[in-house]
Amino acid sequence: MTRHYNFCAGPAALPAAVLERARDEMLDYRGHGLSVMEMSHRAPEYVAIARQAEADLRELLAIPDHYRVLFTQGGATLQFAAVPYNLLGRGGRANFLHTGIWGSKAVAEARHLFGDAPVVASSEANGHSAVPRPDDIVLTEDAAYLHYTANETIGGLEFDFVPEAVRPDGGEVPLVCDMSSSILSGPLDVSKFGIIYAGAQKNIGPAGLVVVIVREDLLDRARPDMPSLFDYRALADAGSMINTPATYSWYLAGLVFQWLKHDIGGLAAMNAINDRKAAKLYAAIDSSELYANPIALRNRSRMNVPFVLADERLDKPFLAEADAAGLLNLKGHRSVGGMRASLYNAVPEAAVDALIAFMADFEQRRG
Ligand code: PMP
Repeated sequence: MTRHYNFCAGPAALPAAVLERARDEMLDYRGHGLSVMEMSHRAPEYVAIARQAEADLRELLAIPDHYRVLFTQGGATLQFAAVPYNLLGRGGRANFLHTGIWGSKAVAEARHLFGDAPVVASSEANGHSAVPRPDDIVLTEDAAYLHYTANETIGGLEFDFVPEAVRPDGGEVPLVCDMSSSILSGPLDVSKFGIIYAGAQKNIGPAGLVVVIVREDLLDRARPDMPSLFDYRALADAGSMINTPATYSWYLAGLVFQWLKHDIGGLAAMNAINDRKAAKLYAAIDSSELYANPIALRNRSRMNVPFVLADERLDKPFLAEADAAGLLNLKGHRSVGGMRASLYNAVPEAAVDALIAFMADFEQRRG
């Protein structure tokens, strides 16, 4: 058996230790005589798995008690709709920061459902190579909340600060963050946010699960015409079990949280590893004649590193040779081309070292 290095943007690499544990527990989960996949979500042994996962996530992110944690479904994409449904019940308009493709999809869904949704600051003018500065972010008088994407997975553009969500009259509104591709990459001050949501399939676990962290006082702002499965209060009251949750993905997420706590040593340790991995790859790109990354230094993503080759004709051989060397999924998103190496938590530093060595060798032979 050989496990290659997987740089996929999502579904992404999972820690080998997590997969091994899942394998060991597959047929007979801790003496219960069945797999987690086959359990009722109401069974005490499953409820214990679900609650432990929540407790571990709370501990990792130091989530304050007045926040609820939801384990729901529909991808981060469903949250593009669920957020406005949950927050626009008292009127006002959603305000957006637009820094790339995922942010623009969130805007499009809000507009599709509720008409107007102003973009109050954007990086469009610089080709999404640098996020707006704090002073450029001016909310509308009627802002109900401010939504942004902490890390644009396709563009490789990451915020280097947490924006303030304050209306011109000084009133604070909830800050909502799509953290799909950067959650758990390092410590976080959850108290700055009203809502954080993240699709699981990058740093949390397998696809099929979405984590929503919502401040309790925001649970009474929902529109009455909301589909019941979108309803954060109903989900919170039901322990995220209004209906059958994504039981196996939730269990695996729990194993990932355990791995972060016990094998890695928490998010400060993870943060240091992620800093190191990204810094070496960007240094290799910057010191080469063949590879380039266009993002402003302060906004370079630690999780998703896009790069182009000076000669596009080398793209195909680069990908084929990387694949043959066991370096998988380096092709950039179909909308932008080029390459992208995603360096999520579960991508080991050795994978980054192998990629850098391959890139140098390729440049020497073909560049
Ligand atoms: N937001 C971001 C930042 C993403 O990276 C993605 C997926 N790549 C999405 C939203 C959409 O997630 P999903 O496929 O879970 O709906």
